[in-house]
Amino acid sequence: MSLIHASTIQITKASTSKIHSVDFDNLEFGKVFTDHMFVCDYEDGEWQNPQIIPYQALSMEPSARVFHYGQAVFEGMKAYKDEKDQIWLFRPDQNFERINKSSKRLAIPEFPEAYFFNGLNELLKLDSEWIKPGVGNSLYLRPFVIATEPAISASPARSYKFLIICSPAKAYYNEPVRVLFAEKFSRSANGGVGFAKAAGNYAAQFYPTSLAQQKGFQQIIWTDANTHDYLEEAGTMNIFFRIGDKLLTAPTNDRILDGVTRKSVIQLAEDLGIECEVRAVKVSEIKEAAGNGTLKEIFGAGTAAVISEISAFEHADDVFELAHVEEGSYGSLFKSHLLDIQHNKAEDAHDWRYLVK
Ligand SMILES: *Cc1c(COP(=O)(O)O)cnc(C)c1O
Repeated sequence: MSLIHASTIQITKASTSKIHSVDFDNLEFGKVFTDHMFVCDYEDGEWQNPQIIPYQALSMEPSARVFHYGQAVFEGMKAYKDEKDQIWLFRPDQNFERINKSSKRLAIPEFPEAYFFNGLNELLKLDSEWIKPGVGNSLYLRPFVIATEPAISASPARSYKFLIICSPAKAYYNEPVRVLFAEKFSRSANGGVGFAKAAGNYAAQFYPTSLAQQKGFQQIIWTDANTHDYLEEAGTMNIFFRIGDKLLTAPTNDRILDGVTRKSVIQLAEDLGIECEVRAVKVSEIKEAAGNGTLKEIFGAGTAAVISEISAFEHADDVFELAHVEEGSYGSLFKSHLLDIQHNKAEDAHDWRYLVK
């Protein structure tokens, strides 16, 4: 790792801020972006020229490889502000490692750690006003890498751009979601790219998800591509089942994204003395538990919504409705613990918080 100083990042400030035109009480997720963005180029075999510039459109040739072969990966993380106006990130080391794991699988050169962290620090200090204090408010950060080389031969590009853009996100109550267990379509397969945060993994989900939505289900829980007998993840969230007092979640493998929220929930469960089994989860056992009343909760875990309650699922034309747990649901317990740690309101026993300086 080559260490650099923040001063190595060339900063061009926006001449005016858009912040006063933003209605922070009515934010639609991912629509509004802050005044600045971080950009770094890969040319001649190395990442170079890290810059912070005003948020703006990119100019690229139509032959840029990202448009043709989907050579693109991304991350999703958040910055939080506490009551003393300190800015925090949550386990950013995990996002850094993961974007490079994703990049490696997509034959994209790995990004230097110092650029990643210095870029984040400088960008967040510059756009600090966009991070509102208060539990649930955050600034959603989207690091991503795209292949920019203008040549449509089907091979890895020789030039790339790494960017970070930031979008303010509001504390919001998310409605419980109804899901369909996949029986035909697959999101990923053995040896594939399911574990990577690859742009194409999302594109491939839109069509089957739109069919599910026509049937009244907002999301799909993906099953293993070979048999469709095992529940894997939701495609933007990892997934947990509570049967009796025990939690169940699938082990990560090359078909499942290794979520930061997932691994944090598993650790918090251990801290709180809640048994959590990490093992293959059969569709049949979840249907059986729903049938005999021992299935108490299903929830998704991911950075955007933290925890999302799942209120119903469908499989093979059987629909199961789950009663909302009013008091002491595991989902709300994990959500409030995570939010409190993220916003510097609770002890951080595992050193998950990272102070932006
Ligand atoms: C990002 C993502 C998740 C959630 O990961 P977090 O690190 O918890 O945000 C789960 N599944 C997929 C496919 C994802 O892309």
